[in-house]
Amino acid sequence: MLPAPIPSYATRHPGGCLLPALLRGRVDHIDGATGELLHRYTTVHEPGGLLPIACKTRRASRCPACAEVYRADTYQLIRAGLTGGNGIPATVATHPCVFTTLTAPSFGAVHTHRENNGNVLACRPRRNGGTCPHGRRLSCGDKHSRDDARLGEPLCPECYDYTGAVLFNAHAAVLWRRFTITLRRTLARQAGLTNKAFAAQVRVSYAKVAEYQRRGVVHFHAIIRLDGPTGPTTTPPTWATPALLTAAIHQAARAVTVKMPAAPGLPSRTLTWGRELDTRPITTTGDLTDAKVAAYVAKYATKAAECTGTLDRRVSSSERLASLPVRDHARRHIAECFRLGKLPELEHLRLTAWAHMLGFGSHFSPKSRAYSVTLGSLRADRAIYQRDNAKAAGLLPDLDTDTALVVADWKVAGRADPLPLALLNTASTLPKTGGTPCPDCC
Ligand SMILES: [Zn+2]
Ligand SMILES: [Zn+2]
Ligand SMILES: [Zn+2]
Repeated sequence: MLPAPIPSYATRHPGGCLLPALLRGRVDHIDGATGELLHRYTTVHEPGGLLPIACKTRRASRCPACAEVYRADTYQLIRAGLTGGNGIPATVATHPCVFTTLTAPSFGAVHTHRENNGNVLACRPRRNGGTCPHGRRLSCGDKHSRDDARLGEPLCPECYDYTGAVLFNAHAAVLWRRFTITLRRTLARQAGLTNKAFAAQVRVSYAKVAEYQRRGVVHFHAIIRLDGPTGPTTTPPTWATPALLTAAIHQAARAVTVKMPAAPGLPSRTLTWGRELDTRPITTTGDLTDAKVAAYVAKYATKAAECTGTLDRRVSSSERLASLPVRDHARRHIAECFRLGKLPELEHLRLTAWAHMLGFGSHFSPKSRAYSVTLGSLRADRAIYQRDNAKAAGLLPDLDTDTALVVADWKVAGRADPLPLALLNTASTLPKTGGTPCPDCC
């Protein structure tokens, strides 16, 4: 049997991207003084007359190649904020810095994997656990492996508080914002300073990532660092210690709430973080090193809610929920998002739009402004490097950028179909510049 034909764009794939956008157009380099056309690039010469551009998604479930670039950039960004590099001084490693995990509260008993010294323990052993009002047992003596499909599933779906879970996801970013404000105020109080005096001496910098637990709620892993007043280039005062920071984090996490007023069919409720709160100092040696933390955060920056068994795309309200290829626990979250999304009082949460994310619609890995370099600056550095290499290889004209005008005309011609991984890594056939002028375009 003949092999399947390779799509034309595969002959010049943008870094192995599975879902490249396809562009049609040209770029002219014109002498600013004389108006002379110095160089023209056109997609006419590309396979199919189209130039594929990488999708640049962060989601590994959509495009592993682009997500890997995002992961590597995030790793560099996080690591620079811990040990310096990419313009951040190495002295940042001496600043008080901890890794903290803020979790969601319980919304009902779920199947869990438990371990003690490498031995798997029973899920929820209760000799007289009894049954719930729906007749389901409130105990589970099974020893669930890490890949058990039941992990995160409620013992009784009817008892599980899906409303609370969805509302927590929808407000997790607000809780985080209030936590950071309260943390600064708590630190100021502990130091015996006014908020203004504290800000003149200390800056709280952070980078965090959202991770879905199997039960369908997000929790946050955060690197929190104390700097001098202008960020990582300035030294914090000697009273700013990891112990002070840890105590303030725990105090602030316990104090913050989001109060939700009542709505028709929805009693008022107060949202808080869960009781599980873990804060540990980040060091250059030992259990929690800067490299481990950077790798952990970078890994989760490329994930979404897929571990909860939901969909990796938006769900339209016209779709039949019963026929969605999701596990029942996720389906119930999605149904609750649709139900709550119809309440005018909750319109601002956009729960219908974020139903596939079980209500969470915020950025997955935001950072405070002074934490480190930005993803944008890392991408800009890479673009300059690639452009210089292309010029050296004769693939781009080496023109005087001070005098040459660049006139671009692009049109999006669609998006390529997902490309099987086996067809990737085909050698580039990019024509070199300076060849025979093409009568069609030059
Ligand atoms: Zn891609
Ligand atoms: Zn169980
Ligand atoms: Zn029940």
